[in-house]
Amino acid sequence: MNLSIRLAHLYPKLMNLYGDRGNIICLRHRCRARGIELTVDELDLGDRLDPQAYDLIFIGGGQDREQRRIVRDLIDVKGEAIRQAVEEGVAALAVCGGYQLFARYYRPAVGEDLPGLGIFDAHTEHPGEDVARCIGNVVADWDGGTLAGFENHGGRTYLGGGARPLATVRTGYGNNGVDKTEGAVYKNAYGTYLHGSLLPKNPRFADHVLRLALRRRYGEVELAPLDDALEEAAHAAAIRVATSR
Ligand code: GLN
Repeated sequence: MNLSIRLAHLYPKLMNLYGDRGNIICLRHRCRARGIELTVDELDLGDRLDPQAYDLIFIGGGQDREQRRIVRDLIDVKGEAIRQAVEEGVAALAVCGGYQLFARYYRPAVGEDLPGLGIFDAHTEHPGEDVARCIGNVVADWDGGTLAGFENHGGRTYLGGGARPLATVRTGYGNNGVDKTEGAVYKNAYGTYLHGSLLPKNPRFADHVLRLALRRRYGEVELAPLDDALEEAAHAAAIRVATSR
């Protein structure tokens, strides 16, 4: 069976902090190596999203300025479709600033609150520009193993009862540096603070995202193993660096 995945990449130029588009490059590689056809639609300001058309939605991180630039479009132009897609089981991966805007709201250090899509029962508040940002390497444990990445965010995210964390922090801050949670999960939507990019350094999680993207149209798909020697070496090195400080 010829498998295909259609991916909506939201605001690829504006929400691409620390090269989060590296996640797309990783997914392209992992699909191509398995003969899975991956189509990536870049959706910018003003572009509408068809909730029936996609298997996976991706949004990267962004500083407060970029988040402010996209938030009205995210809510008013794409919001209802994204919520509908997630409710119908479409997979999503939202990183950092994108993650914050997939939750209920982000209260920056300066200026008005930025509303979110409410997909994750969580909210984010920046404690003030005089408070140290959450910056550094992160190691966190998730259901499928360990995640290694890099974080740089001022906002602290607090999960409500309707969201479960993606992972538990071993090293680093994660959502807020207090409750040891990192990220959030709701249905097949995942939020995370991990840049890096996340997926190239975490091949097992990358394949988990691919299986979620395939599940809606093809059910449970067994993915052929890839030669992940380089990826696993990068993963191990990231963990060594993070835990050696
Ligand atoms: N602007 C947000 C914050 O500082 C998100 C930053 C990011 O995407 N790295 O918390």
